[in-house]
Amino acid sequence: VCLERGWREFNSETGDQWNLWWRTSGFSVNHHRNLYAWQVKRTYINHIPKGSAICRKDNLVRYLRCMRKVYGSIYDFSPHGYNLPLEYTKLAAECSRNGRPFSSKSDAEDKLLEEKPIWICKPVAQSQGRGIFLFRKLSELSYDSNTIVQRYIEKPLLIGGYKFDLRLYVCIPSYHPVTIYMYKEGLARFGTDKFSLNDLRNPFRHLTNCSINKLGPGYTEMKDRIGSGCKWTLRQLRRYFQQAGISDWLLWQRISSLVILTVLSHVNQIPPTVNCFEFFGFDVLIDSSLRPWLLEVNLSPALSNDCDADRSVKKPMLHDMFDLLGLPLYNTGLSVFDIWLDESDENNTEEDKVERTKDALTNSLPVLNAADRWRRKHRKMSARQVRSRSSSAAHAPIRTVSATIPSNFRFNNFSKLLTFLIVEIIHLPKSNYNLPKNKPNYETNKHLLTKMFQSIEDLKKIANSKKWGNGRDWNCATSSEGGWIRIWPIVVEPLNKSNTSNVKQMVSTVIKYTKTAKDLVKNHPTASECQLNEFLQQEMKMSGEIWIPPV
Ligand code: ADP
Repeated sequence: VCLERGWREFNSETGDQWNLWWRTSGFSVNHHRNLYAWQVKRTYINHIPKGSAICRKDNLVRYLRCMRKVYGSIYDFSPHGYNLPLEYTKLAAECSRNGRPFSSKSDAEDKLLEEKPIWICKPVAQSQGRGIFLFRKLSELSYDSNTIVQRYIEKPLLIGGYKFDLRLYVCIPSYHPVTIYMYKEGLARFGTDKFSLNDLRNPFRHLTNCSINKLGPGYTEMKDRIGSGCKWTLRQLRRYFQQAGISDWLLWQRISSLVILTVLSHVNQIPPTVNCFEFFGFDVLIDSSLRPWLLEVNLSPALSNDCDADRSVKKPMLHDMFDLLGLPLYNTGLSVFDIWLDESDENNTEEDKVERTKDALTNSLPVLNAADRWRRKHRKMSARQVRSRSSSAAHAPIRTVSATIPSNFRFNNFSKLLTFLIVEIIHLPKSNYNLPKNKPNYETNKHLLTKMFQSIEDLKKIANSKKWGNGRDWNCATSSEGGWIRIWPIVVEPLNKSNTSNVKQMVSTVIKYTKTAKDLVKNHPTASECQLNEFLQQEMKMSGEIWIPPV
């Protein structure tokens, strides 16, 4: 995606500067500390300090439990869980409250055992389904590291007899003000063996991780309704719902609320930041009563393309996300850093600068064209999909481009040009968690800064303005960008109360949102999706769109 946008991969040997540093793991405090300094150079990183806290399974249990205590049942969207070893006795007490001996052999007891709840044990430090197992009897539980034990959702919604969960993409460019976007498309990930509670040890029945299921015997088989493989797009899922006569509008609104409430659970821990963002993968399971359950939040959702569903979701999503964040609007192949240096060089005449800029823009045209080609292709594809739709065609998502080089742009408007040009990218292989050999030179940054700014007060002003180095101001966050829909704030009112970090107020707005959505469905059982959207927008005085996957 980065290359398609004309970016260059960071090369430490050529002494390149960089603009985006994308890591699968978090960044050290030092990196964040330097972000204010980097801001003027428009450099960005893909994690927010402490943003990863909800991505640890044990933290998530803790945060959501805490919110449940304060705000009540609105937080009942995560299966009840215990952190082990710390809460082993609580778990044991709950197991015994169910009135069962922990290990029994007799037939009568075995029958009773079937009625006992099932638990799922998940090691905290593992991912992709590794180390997970199910059990009914406490005596079957064994663990040698920090682990969570969670109530197993025993009645998931099944398609063709197969269990599935959802992978939803969420982007948070700012916690102060809280700004949350969710992508319209996502993935449904299926187990590859028919679901049944008879065999708790069969991972292809109970776990929906693609990493596990693609190794199973059922992966390539043509499965009932599902077909081969183990993934659908949300569009495919919604079409299935339509065919099966399942009204799913409320489900998506509850999912949207669940995401906001989860983010709110840790918002107070996070300092104000600029030039950094989080890109989360939310895993949600739907049960047979169409109730969504949050399973976990992933810090670095997989971006690999294993199948057609991946390809049709992930690439457009990333392009749209970079547009949303203003990471290059249109890449030009120009180096901002070079220009910046030129700008600060007093010996450079204005004419020199204009000439250089003209050259750079001419050189960058092939890249602009490449980016445009990609967009045209994508638009054509969406148009085709839209045409193939019948009833809801009028509400097809329209790709928007956040900005482009304006038609009235003048070459001598040098400082404005900087806003539109972004260049090099640092791209580390997934496995490489170390710093590149040539670390970005903070000393040089400091030197540059003192050269460019009169005093440290200027820097502070930048930090307090909460604007990103490219001008993105999350106090007036756009309602959508491509397929990214702003789900929070529901109403953008700059510097209004609703934009401040008052969690209590925000939770009560989400409660109202969920209740209004429920009431609308109840009071207008025959209303179309568009009508429900309109009603909800009116009731909530929303300034933006309603998040709902395409159909
Ligand atoms: P990992 O980080 O290892 O992927 P998850 O929490 O996502 O761990 O769990 C892996 C899979 O196990 C999920 O995709 C889901 O299919 C299943 N699963 C996890 N927790 C539950 C639960 N409480 N109830 C039912 N299924 C669950």
